[in-house]
Amino acid sequence: MTTRLIRNASLLGGDPQDVLIADGVVREIGTGLSAEGAVELDATGLVLLPGLVDLHTHLREPGREDAETVHTGTRAAARGGYTAVHAMANTFPVADTAGVVEQVWRLGRASGYCDVQPVGAVTIGLEGKKLAELGAMHDSAAGVRVFSDDGKCVDDAVIMRRALEYVKAFDGVIAQHAQEPRLTEGAQMNEGTVSGEIGLAGWPAVAEEAIIARDVLLAAHVGSRLHVCHVSTAGSVEIIRWAKAKGWDVTAEVTPHHLLLTDELVRSYDPVYKVNPPLRTEADVMALREALADGTIDAVATDHAPHPAEDKDCEWAVAAMGMVGLETALSVVQHTMVDTGLMDWQGVADRMSFRPARIGRLTGHGRPVSPGEPANLVLVDPAYRGTVIPESFATRSRNTPYRGLDLPGQVRATFLRGVPTVLDGEPVAPETVAGAVA
Ligand SMILES: [Zn+2]
Repeated sequence: MTTRLIRNASLLGGDPQDVLIADGVVREIGTGLSAEGAVELDATGLVLLPGLVDLHTHLREPGREDAETVHTGTRAAARGGYTAVHAMANTFPVADTAGVVEQVWRLGRASGYCDVQPVGAVTIGLEGKKLAELGAMHDSAAGVRVFSDDGKCVDDAVIMRRALEYVKAFDGVIAQHAQEPRLTEGAQMNEGTVSGEIGLAGWPAVAEEAIIARDVLLAAHVGSRLHVCHVSTAGSVEIIRWAKAKGWDVTAEVTPHHLLLTDELVRSYDPVYKVNPPLRTEADVMALREALADGTIDAVATDHAPHPAEDKDCEWAVAAMGMVGLETALSVVQHTMVDTGLMDWQGVADRMSFRPARIGRLTGHGRPVSPGEPANLVLVDPAYRGTVIPESFATRSRNTPYRGLDLPGQVRATFLRGVPTVLDGEPVAPETVAGAVA
């Protein structure tokens, strides 16, 4: 395995350091390092972060390989600086058995671009009626610890209580897609001024907040661990802040798009802005940024939701919900959080690597950049300015809301256990990765 010497990288935004990588781990950190035969990489002006960890990725395989595969999705992840992603369970078939989660886990191993940690469904077929084989999925080769019916809400309080109780046995967590179904029947966008003016059916904030309020109470009642997916309203933030103040074991994530975009964009009727939960108001965006900065929201999670053109290039009402996000997440976070002075790179490492890895109980990711730790690393050029060109994406789908937008920052290199998955901003040849990782 190649020994690599990264020169003059700004460690989590701090002073320039040399980082020596050998045998998949960080060997040495210092200045003026040398190592015989090492491949050197000049990282002057680049920020070195721990490999990013996504808690919320839709890889679409099995079943919707026309939108994404584990292979294309993990290439996109690597290009975005990720070394581990959690693959959501709403595939066809649903990842509700040990067999399906093991299949996804094996596809991830074969891809080699980043580690794929499958998420198991909470209920059979995501139908919300009967608990899936949570224990069997945990005991499988995939070692599932995060369970979610994402795309759908576990709306039955008794089922939610049982799921929370069940996963306690192995320190699992239920990741809830908080959407009260009756309050959102036929909903097309955020309920507010814009929905009233343009005449689309509204999706009230209370539909999200009511479920979060119920679930933090349930989690506290049974003494279990709850994770709230894609928080999108200021009111949700207040409930999570309250639950955390109580000392309850509640964590939450926010997507990059909810940190930047508002429902004003829906006036265009362009389905690229149709997403679940919907884009909210500027006041919500500002509350979410503040909550991410102060740690009330633990993590940025992409909710990368690829769709083929035919599911998006249509009338608003029938268009699929979701946006791709893996390859733009870090840029959006730099733009909304770092360049605004709300968060430094240490904060980015915490919210995009340390904390998501801890929530998912991943042991080999989200580790400090120090000697002896796995060399899961990303080099970012924060001075880069460029226009988002979806045609250059590694993901199979093109449904990005950022087309043509100027965003800062570029991932220059990603390393998975010392093996480069991205160099010079582009994914490296799969055979190199496959051979080295094996
Ligand atoms: Zn969701």
